[in-house]
Amino acid sequence: MFAGPVEFLKGVVAMDGLPPADRIEVCFAGRSNVGKSSLINALTGRKALARASNTPGRTQEINFFTVGESHYLVDLPGYGYAEAPVAVVAKWQQLLKAYLSGRQTLRRAFVLIDMRHGVKAVDEEIMTLLDRSAVTFQVVMTKADKIKTSDHAQVLDQVRRALARHPAAYPEIVLTSSEKGLGIETLRAIIATLE
Ligand code: GDP
Repeated sequence: MFAGPVEFLKGVVAMDGLPPADRIEVCFAGRSNVGKSSLINALTGRKALARASNTPGRTQEINFFTVGESHYLVDLPGYGYAEAPVAVVAKWQQLLKAYLSGRQTLRRAFVLIDMRHGVKAVDEEIMTLLDRSAVTFQVVMTKADKIKTSDHAQVLDQVRRALARHPAAYPEIVLTSSEKGLGIETLRAIIATLE
């Protein structure tokens, strides 16, 4: 399905702006700077696709991309910005909750974790929200090229311990590097199998 064209459809700021739930949908979540835009660009083979949605003012929107005829790829705003005003965060959390709990066609959330940092408290919060929303989520490690292969096992152990606390977690962790193209084909294949 990634062979089909990928287009930016719209940025959504309220539930009534959501496109019709008429396609299979996957969403991507992660802390700011985790490498989410780079991963989406690598997945879709479109260099500047997700960068457009990263520009100031668009960062609090849920961005929808169409992939071929059959899928939506959904870019959730990066979280963990300490300087975001409380009211903005609250409004965003409300929208996120409503979206995650009410989207019939949402098949999986991919939670991106920076290989250098492991699971942080804000990642746990998102995972808990996904548990409560009964949305299966799968962890995608980003920037695998940034740490030594000999250090991978230790990071993955920490992630596995965190996942054990979350009933909605899918056990398989995907290792990626957008820079090196690692894991990108694996992730495409996973998305393509979701029905
Ligand atoms: P976002 O804020 O989550 O969308 O993160 P970006 O995709 O903008 O990436 C944040 C920074 O990490 C940028 O400087 C990227 O070039 C860098 N980056 C992203 N993915 C990788 C990767 O796989 N390897 C390396 N070495 N750097 C990466």
